[in-house]
Amino acid sequence: MANNPRHKFTTQVLVIGSGAGGAITAATLAEAGYSVLIAEEGPEVDLSGMATHTPRAMQLLYRNGGLSPILGNTNIAFVEGCCVGGSTEINSAFWLHTPPDAVHRWQKIYGVRDLSVEALDLLFKEIEVELGISFLNSDELPPSSARFKYGAEKLGWLIEEVPRAQVTNLGGSAYAPDAKRSMSRTYIPRALRAGARLLSNCHITRLYYRRGRVSHVSGVLKKPTRERNLWDRSQRYYTSNVLIEAEFVFVCGGAIQTPVLLRFSGIKRNIGNNLCIHPMLKVAALFDEPLDSHHTALPIYQVKEFWPDITLGGSVFTPGFLALTLSENWTENQEAMRNWRQMALYYAACRGSNRGTVRVFPLTHEAVVRYRLSRQDQMNLSIGLARLGEVLFAGGARKLYPALQAPSVLNSLAECRMFLEKPIPISAMSLTTVHAFSTCPMGENKALCATDSFGKVYGFENLYIADASLIPDSPGVNPQGTIMALALRNTRHFLEEKGRL
Ligand SMILES: Cc1cc2nc3c(=O)[nH]c(=O)nc-3n(C[C@H](O)[C@H](O)[C@H](O)COP(=O)(O)OP(=O)(O)OC[C@H]3O[C@@H](n4cnc5c(N)ncnc54)[C@H](O)[C@@H]3O)c2cc1C
Repeated sequence: MANNPRHKFTTQVLVIGSGAGGAITAATLAEAGYSVLIAEEGPEVDLSGMATHTPRAMQLLYRNGGLSPILGNTNIAFVEGCCVGGSTEINSAFWLHTPPDAVHRWQKIYGVRDLSVEALDLLFKEIEVELGISFLNSDELPPSSARFKYGAEKLGWLIEEVPRAQVTNLGGSAYAPDAKRSMSRTYIPRALRAGARLLSNCHITRLYYRRGRVSHVSGVLKKPTRERNLWDRSQRYYTSNVLIEAEFVFVCGGAIQTPVLLRFSGIKRNIGNNLCIHPMLKVAALFDEPLDSHHTALPIYQVKEFWPDITLGGSVFTPGFLALTLSENWTENQEAMRNWRQMALYYAACRGSNRGTVRVFPLTHEAVVRYRLSRQDQMNLSIGLARLGEVLFAGGARKLYPALQAPSVLNSLAECRMFLEKPIPISAMSLTTVHAFSTCPMGENKALCATDSFGKVYGFENLYIADASLIPDSPGVNPQGTIMALALRNTRHFLEEKGRL
């Protein structure tokens, strides 16, 4: 039992985490008539009119202010959300279907049963209505994307606009902060309308179980001592213990926090061993004329010529993110900040081929995440940088500033093409990732998997996972769609088993 809980709740279903996986799970179960309680570690924030990439928003909505380290053979910063709606509140909302080759691999290697590309596509279509998945109006094409498109087409490479969860048909701009259809604007309100309760600022720290049955969970509830003020970072909280009794528990904390909670609770079989990521190398590009990328922020194209191993695209732009990319070589590159209106950010990302781990720092709930870049990752990122350089120089860029310790500037196509022959040293790369998954893979292969083919944790009768950690291995595309489609599929299976569908 938790020590003297100050708050006690009882519910049929407890959903821990309110992001892509948690929100749709909670809404589906509440609409089927279950009493649902959502416990979310982060705050509930009124996002009206708020741009979610400002330093203040990062303080409020992102875990650790936006930078959680992944340990290994080079710097990798992992970014995730910690607020009602999870990472969907801060992401770019690109929407891609699960590639068929990934589904086939999951069937073959992980033994996932009753999963078909066709069935998944139907679930995608259903979710797409709620999320308003759409393409951008052509008159809103950001200049940074226009340069990128021009460069790729000049080279004859395959380039695609990626649809997004956004509302473009209400007369407003697709770049308006309120245009995005994140979880706090879609499935969370749906869950609440169906009677679900939401406990924000509630960090669940331990599950209690006996003979394969979770009886209750304990956690900490943080309450602001006075009205939250977005501009005041010195917000103080008081905390109190919370205990929640539930018949069914769905853990939806994301690919890092779900294994942290389970392992801290003593549940470790195939939990936190199979971390897959899409490592990403950022590049700042200088053009001749102002692009004013900060006005549009979100670019829209991906070069698919080298997919599934390598994806090239445009990255969210703010002067702060630009400074971060230049900071690898600040002494040499700081002058470039003067031209920030002529600059844009891009990335080369690869489908990471290695496996990392998530562990818990002893006595705390802090994650210790490890991923070592493989030789193949190194090659793919080097080739990715070379190819990205080709697109950008073809698109009119004058100089490139990659997030590398050296070289700090690339002045020509020839300098970029060098990386095709001579890979960048791993230790020189400064990487980020916003895509992590596969730390609790699902499937019938019990040697590899943490849950059955529908997210039920092996050895438990009432414990489920419904988030990025279930995806058996790297899908090679932006994962929000896959996470939501799998969560919907698995929740429907749960309802069917319980005779509620
Ligand atoms: C900057 C950024 C850009 C991205 N862009 C895209 C994109 O364009 N397209 C795309 O497909 N994907 C994108 N992604 C990835 C995508 O958003 C995530 O993969 C997806 O949201 C993960 O869903 P999830 O449910 O696993 O976790 P999350 O959405 O991260 O939600 C997990 C929630 O659980 C809460 N939580 C965790 N532990 C606990 C606990 N112990 N107790 C209570 N609550 C807890 C967290 O606070 C969080 O709110 C992006 C991600 C980021 C960060």
